[in-house]
Amino acid sequence: MSKKTVADLSASDLSGKRVLVRVDFNVPLDNGSITDDTRIRAALPTIQDLTSKGAKVILTSHFGRPQGQVNESMRLTPVAARLSELLGKPVKKFDDCIGDEVIQGVAELQNGDVALLENVRFYAEEEDNDPEFAKKLASVADLYVNDAFGTAHRAHASTEGVTHYLPSVAGYLIEKELKFLQGAIEEPKRPLAAIVGGSKVSSKIGVIEALLDKCDKLLLGGGMIFTFYKARGLNVGKSLVEEDKLDLARALEAKAKEKGVAFLLPTDVIVADKFAPDAEAKTVSINDIPDGWMGLDIGPDSIKVFQEALGDCKTVIWNGPMGVFEFEKFAAGTKAIALTLADLTKTGTITIIGGGDSVAAVEQLHLGEQMSHISTGGGASLELLEGKVLPGIAALNDK
Ligand code: ADP
Ligand code: MG
Repeated sequence: MSKKTVADLSASDLSGKRVLVRVDFNVPLDNGSITDDTRIRAALPTIQDLTSKGAKVILTSHFGRPQGQVNESMRLTPVAARLSELLGKPVKKFDDCIGDEVIQGVAELQNGDVALLENVRFYAEEEDNDPEFAKKLASVADLYVNDAFGTAHRAHASTEGVTHYLPSVAGYLIEKELKFLQGAIEEPKRPLAAIVGGSKVSSKIGVIEALLDKCDKLLLGGGMIFTFYKARGLNVGKSLVEEDKLDLARALEAKAKEKGVAFLLPTDVIVADKFAPDAEAKTVSINDIPDGWMGLDIGPDSIKVFQEALGDCKTVIWNGPMGVFEFEKFAAGTKAIALTLADLTKTGTITIIGGGDSVAAVEQLHLGEQMSHISTGGGASLELLEGKVLPGIAALNDK
């Protein structure tokens, strides 16, 4: 069932109402200055919609891993300053997220004002989802909005606990994530291709299994392919292999066959004599991986085969880089796939990128804007694609 969102609330529902909004302001900070404000910008549509409808907006977020203690370097003060610049109006910053200062400060808010509570993870009760703590957080508001997709897979006090005390709806960011990620697996425009890469099979088993039930084509890259090759009896040299996942690799390949899903493994790879940016590199067929060498990227023939397979697809989900893209010599596979998806987007294919490192690779190539959707939550998007229920979303009111 679809969830109620801020778009369903009118000015008469919101005017004068105190709205607690969970956002993800966990931005990268270097020496006290914000190096990337993408996450703050991503929350603006929800904040601006609420203020324009006369709400008093009370923002709450976590920042870093303070382990339930006040940590001066993890205060949200710089975030409040940047948010204020982006909104073009003052943002009241509180030094706590519950208690008297917050109660008094909220009482002074005018319609359309924006306030930011202190890092909610200064309390261990946040991650413990402590009901009393959640009740205190909720006590200063009339309504709750969750717009923190990146933490929606965690049942914490500010993502799940508070929903027991307040009417609760989704913000625009969560709405967009659900539209693309859920839309792609529940009612995709076909053919649907899934490209799964990254380092290990073990971290992607759930998503591969779930996608095998949904997709028409499965393309694999990254470090995990060598476990599949080894399972087929090929020599993989010093490549990354999970010895305890060989049976699983065989089972996944058999499942693809049984389901009629096209199962594509790279046909050639770039091998290196060591795991380093200055390693010696050469392209070999997957049948000729030399002893002592390790595969760190997919090869040029594989890129062609993948481009051909993707050519007629109407939806493509990509999770996990094709190679060790952090090293220039082994970035070509990831780059080629990113460019291919950007081209497909232009001709109407829905392209969705999930996964922390794959998103970083696409952003590094400045291709983020050219994809249909870049997920803001690595773990959360993976769990959604696996078909898992995200507690922070399940807890919201249905339409
Ligand atoms: P994502 O965050 O997109 O889900 P993962 O975290 O699963 O992706 O994997 C990303 C990592 O996988 C990258 O750091 C990359 O260097 C590594 N990787 C990709 N290909 C290989 C390979 N052939 N051997 C070892 N590591 C690889
Ligand atoms: Mg990762």
